[in-house]
Amino acid sequence: MSDFIVNYTTSKGLVLKLQTGLFINNEFVAGENTLNTINPATEQVICAVQAAEGKQVDAAVDAAEKAYEQVWSKTTPQERQRLMLKLAELIDRDAEELAWIETIDNGKAITFSRYADVKGIAKTLRYYAGYTDKIHGKTFGTPGALSYTLHEPIGVTAGIIPWNFPLVMLGWKLAPALATGNVVIIKTSELTPLSALKVATLIKEAGFPPGVVNIITGYGHLAGEALARHPKVGKIAFTGSTNVGRLILKAAAETNLKKVTLELGGKSPNIIFDDADLDKAIKWAHRGIFFNQGQICCAGSRIYVQEGIYDTFIQKFKQYTSKGVLGDPQKETTFQGPQISQQQLDRIIGYVNQGQKEGATLYHGGKRIGNKGYFIEPTIFTDVTSQMKIVQEEIFGPVVVIGKFKDEEDAIKLAHETTYGLAAAVFTENVTRAARISSRLQAGTVWVNCLLELEENTPFGGYRQSGIGRELGPYGLENYLQVKTVKINLNREA
Ligand code: NAD
Repeated sequence: MSDFIVNYTTSKGLVLKLQTGLFINNEFVAGENTLNTINPATEQVICAVQAAEGKQVDAAVDAAEKAYEQVWSKTTPQERQRLMLKLAELIDRDAEELAWIETIDNGKAITFSRYADVKGIAKTLRYYAGYTDKIHGKTFGTPGALSYTLHEPIGVTAGIIPWNFPLVMLGWKLAPALATGNVVIIKTSELTPLSALKVATLIKEAGFPPGVVNIITGYGHLAGEALARHPKVGKIAFTGSTNVGRLILKAAAETNLKKVTLELGGKSPNIIFDDADLDKAIKWAHRGIFFNQGQICCAGSRIYVQEGIYDTFIQKFKQYTSKGVLGDPQKETTFQGPQISQQQLDRIIGYVNQGQKEGATLYHGGKRIGNKGYFIEPTIFTDVTSQMKIVQEEIFGPVVVIGKFKDEEDAIKLAHETTYGLAAAVFTENVTRAARISSRLQAGTVWVNCLLELEENTPFGGYRQSGIGRELGPYGLENYLQVKTVKINLNREA
């Protein structure tokens, strides 16, 4: 195990012990290759981690299959619960270390790593731990027969996760899979492998049997594709871009028709009526797009403001936006850190240029900050039209477009002018209007007078091209269970 440990000292002098091996069968092992993970605030290489390809994916799947057949399928729900709660406890114990690992690897502000990411994974584990002994079918009495359903685990499942919330996403995949009695292989993003590997050390310490959880890192087109095509993987949960989501679905269709759930991109509308509490709406709208550097699938990236308050809104929103502290994510006061990579930064700058070319007004921001670290100003476009690329496409950065609407009909029409349907928000003090609009919006989540409020007990997922299936809440369990009908003949003749 020690072979793969690298020490890293933060700017505060904190020494982090980074695990860099692939976690297969409760051991840290070598990959086919290595890949460098970079601190996006400094552009320096943090360390090299082992990268899996087909051979290591096979080893992880074999370990998982063996663990399922020999141990996990015979483990009681109470024991699964105990292990999940133990893991949550160890995450709490090492919370500070995990938060720092996330901040150096992902670039998110340390305060947010603590409360959103580290607390997030522990909460999801605890929530689903409560379900292990509450999974059961139904009985159906019919004359002469007794029928009942069994809700059974699938066996070997896999999760492929993105870089924007590495720990949260790990929790969303791990917890429901384990609660329902499945074994699991997680592939982390090649950009943020470190926090999940730290969790791997805690999985081992918690006492999970070897092979029940395997965590590998590696490139998407190699390790990810090998998992998506693997004939022994019965279910895959993917979170990432819509384009890669299509590839996952295709890989499943071309191989063993594994069950697929997809949590994909978004371009969520945030509709602000003239009867809203404006100051509160501004704060939520700001958080809704600029939190986590705008790298949030359900960010309120299209703001639509009713015409009577439009001018006041944009002025106040700009003022509020300019107060957000941008810079070193290791500082306690920082709100906005760097984007994840040079590639993402270039993409965002490309959209800023494109927006100006298409005739939108660059109302605030738009410039890179400094020449080390992938920092860019929070950016506001006004005078936008639905045809513009910056209105249609997911930028996945701190860029918001603001448009105007007349009335409810107009707001709904604008909201629906993209192919996505992940989330939407409505700000109004009129409760019947809120309910009316919520029922019409084509979105997996509608927030009223708030934004980005995700809880582990309520389902999350996309309408339209934002995904297939739901994660979190009781709905999230269904993805990991198959329903078997048993029919017992009591007295019927053939
Ligand atoms: P991405 O699609 O590029 O990568 C996601 C994961 O897929 C990574 O682990 C990557 O290595 C892997 N991958 C890439 N190519 C693959 C392939 N051919 N086969 C199998 N796996 C492959 O996404 P990203 O850039 O890491 O994350 C940003 C995207 O994720 C955004 O579009 C965002 O909206 C989306 N996202 C969605 C949610 C949600 O819950 N709906 C949450 C977070 C992020």
